[in-house]
Amino acid sequence: MHDWSPIGKMRQRINPDEPCSCPSCDAEVEAKHHLFCCPCPKREQCRRDAITAISGFLDKKCTVSDLKSVLLQGLQGYFNDPNYRMPVPGLTSTDTWLVKGIESQNKIGWGELPKGRMALDFETHQAKSNPNYHRGTNHQTQQHWTVPLVSLLFDHS
Ligand SMILES: [Zn+2]
Repeated sequence: MHDWSPIGKMRQRINPDEPCSCPSCDAEVEAKHHLFCCPCPKREQCRRDAITAISGFLDKKCTVSDLKSVLLQGLQGYFNDPNYRMPVPGLTSTDTWLVKGIESQNKIGWGELPKGRMALDFETHQAKSNPNYHRGTNHQTQQHWTVPLVSLLFDHS
């Protein structure tokens, strides 16, 4: 579901005889974000499968629970609204990086997440949750958490 997917609007730009409507539902114009909110049951199922796969991955990788909620809420939020911005929670000393991550991702855009553009503060939040945190933990987190997560998101986008 990347920018170059053959969505209706783009099909029509290439060939004006093509309809720009969605082939799966009755939407008159199939614009970029429509892929994420198309009411067609098959596409709805695709989105549910993506959320389930991502959620399972986050559990398997021992993702901190508040970070897991934020990532899933962000993706779901984007599915519902292309301009989704997450409310930024008040800052406490334990979740500094998570809050910074939400602020950064709000700027980057939650729709960029499936393209692999994830706020780096999330990685730091995940790394710092390790009780044995030390200088090498950031690098380990990048290898074992960030890189596979980003490729998974990319696969489902
Ligand atoms: Zn549709």
